[in-house]
Amino acid sequence: MKVTIDASRCEGRGYCARFAPTVFDRDEDGYGRVTVRGEVPEEAVTDARSAASACPEQAITLHE
Ligand code: SF4
Repeated sequence: MKVTIDASRCEGRGYCARFAPTVFDRDEDGYGRVTVRGEVPEEAVTDARSAASACPEQAITLHE
């Protein structure tokens, strides 16, 4: 599974980095960004799903 953030939707609320800190962090302006390259490691998939569900802007897309 891969994940992307739609920067046009992200409002920098930071749920992604809180729910899945090994998959997302926040840039210098507080906006979410994906830190993994390619596939999300198996052990982080559940957290990545939680982050996508938690994002109030529905800015995170899971690519199964
Ligand atoms: S939770 Fe959503 S809105 Fe918040 S920083 Fe992450 S992608 Fe952006």
